Amino acid sequence: MPSPESQPVVLIADDSGAMRSILRRQMLSAGLSVVEAANGEEAVRQARSLRPDLVLLDVDMPVLDGFQVMSVLRADAASQDVPVIFLTGRVQTAELVEGLDLGAFDYVKKPCDVDELVARVKAGLRVKARADALRRAAQDMDVLGSTDALTGLPNRRALERALDLMATDARRADQPLAVAVVDVDHFKRVNDLEGHGVGDSVLREVGRRLQSAVRPGQVLGRWGGEEFLALAPGLSGEGAHRFGDRLRTMVGWEPVLVEGAPPLRLSVSVGVAAGLPTTERTLVELADAALYAAKAGGRDRVVLAPAAQAEPVGVPLQSRSPEQSVVL
Ligand code: GH3
Ligand code: MG
Ligand code: MG
Repeated sequence: MPSPESQPVVLIADDSGAMRSILRRQMLSAGLSVVEAANGEEAVRQARSLRPDLVLLDVDMPVLDGFQVMSVLRADAASQDVPVIFLTGRVQTAELVEGLDLGAFDYVKKPCDVDELVARVKAGLRVKARADALRRAAQDMDVLGSTDALTGLPNRRALERALDLMATDARRADQPLAVAVVDVDHFKRVNDLEGHGVGDSVLREVGRRLQSAVRPGQVLGRWGGEEFLALAPGLSGEGAHRFGDRLRTMVGWEPVLVEGAPPLRLSVSVGVAAGLPTTERTLVELADAALYAAKAGGRDRVVLAPAAQAEPVGVPLQSRSPEQSVVL
């Protein structure tokens, strides 16, 4: 016996109590759950809050008639996909066509034949189940397509999307955005000395430690290889530098313990660029160049690209010596 939750729910909207009780009996004996509404307004309320799998909708009802209810349901994202079957005493084709034009799944003329009604309801529920399954699959695909399989963090594609959104928000609010590129120092040695499997575990742990440094509203993801990218809206200058240093400290403060390897002392280098994002790319390129400077400056450090350079035009950072751009 399936639990009540797993049974499809049919909303019966009809102003006649006698009609509702007939329909209720038919639906229950077909193994379906039932909720009821006695007028159009109630039907809309029930449809929104209970998310039925199908609506049996009487056309002639007080407050809102069936056609009006249908229009309201279709206008609301929460209810726009629910199949609706009109119940009508009318026989005029024009009105039936109106119902179908509004997007009704089907219509049944009253008085209705029980077997026919149940068959039509089941057909509607099958369509709904298929649509729900497709939507869930699409959502799963979206999650899979934006998650890095090794660390479970947002992947590069998701980061690019987040960067795009955050940069737009920052421009609208005339607020800075900080971009930090984090690269594990001498990571190749971990692979060479301990093997690729240990390397993978270390990357997972680095991801966890970096994530612990990230606050609500900030985003961290895996940019590629042993590189991570973090985004912090609203930060610039010293704040952005501190953000980078929090990331660095969280990774390096204690050795990483991974099964099958001795405790590993790791460090990361961090390049940060912050400012009003004129183009998203520019901030990432500047952060990348700052990272390069951090590596050249001895690793295990944060380099902040000078604020004046967080603009699309300006002297490429690479042309400056690393020492110049290290914030002490
Ligand atoms: P640097 O301090 O200059 O960054 O030195 P590094 O050794 O970290 O940099 P390099 O770019 O020479 O090496 C990065 C290594 O990261 C090489 C690559 O095999 C390894 N790597 C990239 N992705 C993965 C991964 O998913 N798993 C493992 N185990 N290793 C990876
Ligand atoms: Mg590296
Ligand atoms: Mg690298």
